[in-house]
Amino acid sequence: MSHIIHRDLRRVPPVAVSAAGITVTDRAGRTYLDASGGAAVSSLGHAHPEVLAAMHAQIDRNAYAHTAFFTCDAAEELAARLAAEAPGDLDHVYLVSGGSEAMETALKLARQYWLEAGQPRRRTFLARRQSYHGNTLGALAVGGNEWRRQPFAPLLMDVPRVAPCYEYRDRADGQSTEAYTAALLRELEQAILAAGPENLIGFVAETVVGATAGAVPPTPGYFRGVRRLCDQYGLLLILDEVMCGIGRTGTLYAFEQDGVLPDLVVLGKGLGAGYQPIGAVLARAHIVQRLRDGSGAFQHGHTYMGHPVAAAAALAVQQVIQRDCLLGAVTARGTAFRRMLRDAFGNHPHVGDIRGRGLLIGLELVAERAGKTPFAPEQRLHAIIKGEAMARGLMIYPMGGTIDGRRGDHILLAPPFITTEAELAEITSRLADTLTSSLTSSL
Ligand code: PLP
Repeated sequence: MSHIIHRDLRRVPPVAVSAAGITVTDRAGRTYLDASGGAAVSSLGHAHPEVLAAMHAQIDRNAYAHTAFFTCDAAEELAARLAAEAPGDLDHVYLVSGGSEAMETALKLARQYWLEAGQPRRRTFLARRQSYHGNTLGALAVGGNEWRRQPFAPLLMDVPRVAPCYEYRDRADGQSTEAYTAALLRELEQAILAAGPENLIGFVAETVVGATAGAVPPTPGYFRGVRRLCDQYGLLLILDEVMCGIGRTGTLYAFEQDGVLPDLVVLGKGLGAGYQPIGAVLARAHIVQRLRDGSGAFQHGHTYMGHPVAAAAALAVQQVIQRDCLLGAVTARGTAFRRMLRDAFGNHPHVGDIRGRGLLIGLELVAERAGKTPFAPEQRLHAIIKGEAMARGLMIYPMGGTIDGRRGDHILLAPPFITTEAELAEITSRLADTLTSSLTSSL
């Protein structure tokens, strides 16, 4: 019996006792290949000696100092490094303890920006139906995962939402990608006009959609069009890169591949790579300048913000990514991995789509390929797959969220950046066995 309120209240998960590289070992001595980096977190794998050493050194120097009294070198250096490496004038950083906290921070910073600009009527966010921005109430309100939102819907602020950019499901037969993208942008413009631009704070989206739909990248030009509309109607563009940021897609930020500069960027997961709980918001200079010139303070704060050990871990993660040229490795291994997956599942009757960017990859599962028919939710295929994968020593991230009122099962793969091609081949082989047994037992 466990006293922890686990995710599943009827089952205690295996106890992880050690981990190294891409392998996690449980108390029974079973080993698991971490093909999902937990939930796209462990980008450097486990027990990376340099990250551990940086944390130990920071603990010995100074484990904690409250930010109402002090700053610390680790947090200052991390912020300076993130600012130096981010494109454009995204040169201010707010450090918190995770992705949801970072999203709340971005929402409040955006609201305060407009307040200090003398536009208090701007109090509504615009977001998309297919998205996950975190489990706290503000983040849940801008999110689009119906399953997560539904029980708490009465507690959430009203957020008008538009269609996601989900080409596999939503582009009509015969419609070009350009025409599909243009239609999405028309819908966004109509939503802006319907809400009244003078009431809107900003538009919130994941650059590459992660958990709600399994690594769905935007179409070419989509975010350039979004940026144009945000500029035209005076909305801030808030991109959630909690899952897809910090190298996961082969560039430090996924939006760099879309040719846009957001006003605020939300980070988590890969920032601390699992070594410490840490999230961050990157803000463009004009956002912070307005507050500096106005009230002089951002009306926000958390006890553990700017935590020295978390900052030291995240700084070491950044250093390792750069020194070991891991962005290039992500691009090369992502291409190799997608090729292996296409070879294994390209003609699979129940794999409708294989997609993603870098080492953020999704497989969408369908009962029938031609009609892209999802499996019935009652089958709980994603849960069966997770169990079968764990039985084969494979950690993957299958989900069965309700998207736009439609249920779809998909598998998210996000192995550490250090995963070798031989390990990717082994992951593919275990995944093939997992799918065969899961589908046999559920069809
Ligand atoms: N945003 C995205 C895109 C995420 O994938 C997640 C977590 O899965 C979050 C926000 C919330 O982050 P956290 O779980 O660290 O609060």
